[in-house]
Amino acid sequence: MLDPGSTIGVLGGGQLGRMTGQAARTLGYGFTVYEPQTKSPAGHVADLEINASYSDESALGCLAEAADVVTYEFENVPVEATRVLEEKVQLHPRPEILHICQNREREKNFLRDNGIPCAPFAIVDSLEDLETALSEIGRPSVLKTAAFGYDGKGQLKICNEDTDTESIWNRFSKHRAVLEGWMNFSMEISVMVAANENGEVTTFPVAENIHTNHILDYSIVPARISSELQNQAETLAKEIAKKMSLVGLLGVEFFVLKDGNLAVNELAPRPHNSGHYTIDACVTSQFEQFVRAVCGLPLGSTELFRPITMVNILGDAWVDRQPNFGVILEDPEAKLHLYGKAEARKGRKMGHFCVLADSADVAYEKARELKARL
Ligand code: AMP
Repeated sequence: MLDPGSTIGVLGGGQLGRMTGQAARTLGYGFTVYEPQTKSPAGHVADLEINASYSDESALGCLAEAADVVTYEFENVPVEATRVLEEKVQLHPRPEILHICQNREREKNFLRDNGIPCAPFAIVDSLEDLETALSEIGRPSVLKTAAFGYDGKGQLKICNEDTDTESIWNRFSKHRAVLEGWMNFSMEISVMVAANENGEVTTFPVAENIHTNHILDYSIVPARISSELQNQAETLAKEIAKKMSLVGLLGVEFFVLKDGNLAVNELAPRPHNSGHYTIDACVTSQFEQFVRAVCGLPLGSTELFRPITMVNILGDAWVDRQPNFGVILEDPEAKLHLYGKAEARKGRKMGHFCVLADSADVAYEKARELKARL
């Protein structure tokens, strides 16, 4: 167990690192950020920000010197950097988990090999593979790059009328890919699961996620599904954490299928956008739980105080003017979080806000209203 007063090092300087740093500070830990770009959102709240590339072994050595435990806040950190660090300092979650989660092919194989429900899929590495895969999986289906995809990037939906497979394969730039069957879902949900080295595993309440242009727009909690389905999602998330021997935090995204079953879509071994609501609505936030997990502290209660909706604030809100934050600041049941990013670009996550209410429906309605007035 690493006592408060120790230092946590994080690879990646985005908002997830920033909010992790804020939670680390609350518990009395030091906080060091490693990030190629200067003046990062996490760097603003760190004791030390190391700006170097992920392949710079001597700079990674400085991080290992400065920190008592190292973790990461996004899954596109090169796994080699974590393997270098692992030799010098405690590191969680273990590099193999990052290796699995940063590649759809490995992730899907992991899910299938462990009997976790997910979309039917086939690996595609040539035009012939694509034709075989389409005959197995059928249409509609979705072709996704095996490596480095997020927020819908590197994806192509293939419908019944898309019969020219050669042009599809060329449009996809012939990247190694996973062809997934199209899932007829009624809702997307996610569960954050945390585990520490003492074998404790906890989940947070299930979030119902609404995406716009493939980017998370709203997370509504509790998800408006039966408590039986919520339990199933939490049980599956715990099973995944156990099968991975997770120490740290993992986001599990699911489709709720129209037939009532669940299918896992994606895994993220770090704090997750759909878990931001926990800061304002739970006894322990996902960030504090992450800090507790990687430091070997007992995990905190994940009890939800009140129903809540989280809304992402994207750079789009700055298009003609500064957003009207007053509408959120003046509302007694709303909370504003900004990430200190200097430049607002379309699609860039600049902050989020949350609305608490007596029911998930009311929180969601009110969140939509506030967003429209922002
Ligand atoms: P991903 O980047 O894999 O999380 O996909 C982004 C979004 O595309 C998901 O949140 C879904 O809305 C949609 N999507 C991805 N895969 C599928 C699928 N197999 N069937 C239906 N919709 C999908």
